[in-house]
Amino acid sequence: MIVDGHNDLLLRLWRGEQPLDLDLETARAAGFAGGFFALFAPSLPSAADHPVDVYALPPTGPIARDEAARIVDEQFGVLRDLGLPLAHSASGFEAGQVTAIVHMEGAEALAPDLSDLDDWYARGLRSVGPVWSRPNDFGEGVPFAFPSSPDTGPGLTPTGKSLVHACNRLGILVDVSHLNEAGFWDIASLALAPLVATHSNAHTLCPSSRNLTDAQLDAIGASKGVVGINFAPAFLREDGADDPETPIAEIVRHVDYVAERIGVDHVALGSDLEGATMPAGLGGAAGLPRLVELLRARYSDGDVAKITHGNWLRVLEATWSVWGLYFAVAGDDPRATLLDALARFDTPGLAVDLGAGTGRDTAELLRRGWRVIAIDREQYAVDRLSAIASPPQLETRLARFEDAEWPPSDLVNSSFALPFCPPREFPRLWERIVDSLRRGGRFCGQLFGDHDDWAGSGVVVHTRDEVRELLAPFEVELLDEFDQDGKTAVGTRKHWHVYHLVARKL
Ligand code: ZN
Repeated sequence: MIVDGHNDLLLRLWRGEQPLDLDLETARAAGFAGGFFALFAPSLPSAADHPVDVYALPPTGPIARDEAARIVDEQFGVLRDLGLPLAHSASGFEAGQVTAIVHMEGAEALAPDLSDLDDWYARGLRSVGPVWSRPNDFGEGVPFAFPSSPDTGPGLTPTGKSLVHACNRLGILVDVSHLNEAGFWDIASLALAPLVATHSNAHTLCPSSRNLTDAQLDAIGASKGVVGINFAPAFLREDGADDPETPIAEIVRHVDYVAERIGVDHVALGSDLEGATMPAGLGGAAGLPRLVELLRARYSDGDVAKITHGNWLRVLEATWSVWGLYFAVAGDDPRATLLDALARFDTPGLAVDLGAGTGRDTAELLRRGWRVIAIDREQYAVDRLSAIASPPQLETRLARFEDAEWPPSDLVNSSFALPFCPPREFPRLWERIVDSLRRGGRFCGQLFGDHDDWAGSGVVVHTRDEVRELLAPFEVELLDEFDQDGKTAVGTRKHWHVYHLVARKL
């Protein structure tokens, strides 16, 4: 089974053209189980640069948002018409079936205030590359150049950083392919999930601006992420030539390099079928088994399975259940704020766990005899929670906590989740938390402070005075302020400014 990091079939079909390399029936028969299907709005060619050569790179000028939104919408319609299942969880992939991950290649179609991102998520969007190789509201793409360093300009804009946070919150994968190096490092410092390059290669072997330096590869490996190896000769060959006579062994050369440098757990395939020149020896998706044969000659069966699909599935699962990853990395012990709050109750009651994740806090509440309503927006999280216990001890709800309703309760717990509420919805959510608590009931959890590295990029932050104000209806039992350098759950450096809170309603 092959899961692939990138194809441009939707662009091809949207243009009214027949597939060159990715006929789905043929591909399915060759073991192609789907992967990332790009929604991509090409810059409009002027009459002068209308491509005469099929391999000519598309023009890279900016594209207006309305135009991009219209095109991407039409391409999403093309995807719907194909009738493929859309991937919502890593377990959705099956041999013998083509499953599509909805990927936006360049975020031009999104509103800069991100007001339509939730709708796109609901439609099935699970992966976003903030930029293609052109500038937009979110950042600078890396222009195609050979030989060239990927370090070609400034990083993400504030809007681009907000997009990364919004993707963290929703569990949307953020793709670093087509970013310049500064943008890459911005994402490395903001992402809560493993770093992913869906279709890029090793710069040391092919010094194209589109490829990843050793330092970038190392960061991807350290984050437990993955690199999808691109089959385009221009990103494979030492001389950067866009030559279809390039042998498919060149693909394996990059697989070997990345596997050697950061481990076989961090390399996968990212073909770019229908979006770039392909080695003629591959013969399109029909030739995938030939590539697998070459891998089999060099890797164990287990490692081949990782390269062809296992690594993608692992990273997708970690990314699409981002709190699952967070809690997995951070450990399964209940939060100290919850334990502090529980020690202050004489008898168990009804608790609400907002953004329950994998259930580390919910499990502790149940163990101590509490009844729990656990709310999480991720199906994955709710499935895991449901396995812990059943009603009436545990009721699970699949919902965004800012939309959720719950009955009067004795405890509202929200560990590291409230700051990821859309800022404009936070006041209403906080009001609901306060109103829902009975007198003598408690809130426990975390809020972020204004010195946090993520302040100003879409997360909810508060000054100490603002926290005091929020807690006016409470007697404050614990207000622990953490304001220092540390690391994210995936090991990147970050300044944290966090208030750990326990408060009793007056
Ligand atoms: Zn691309």
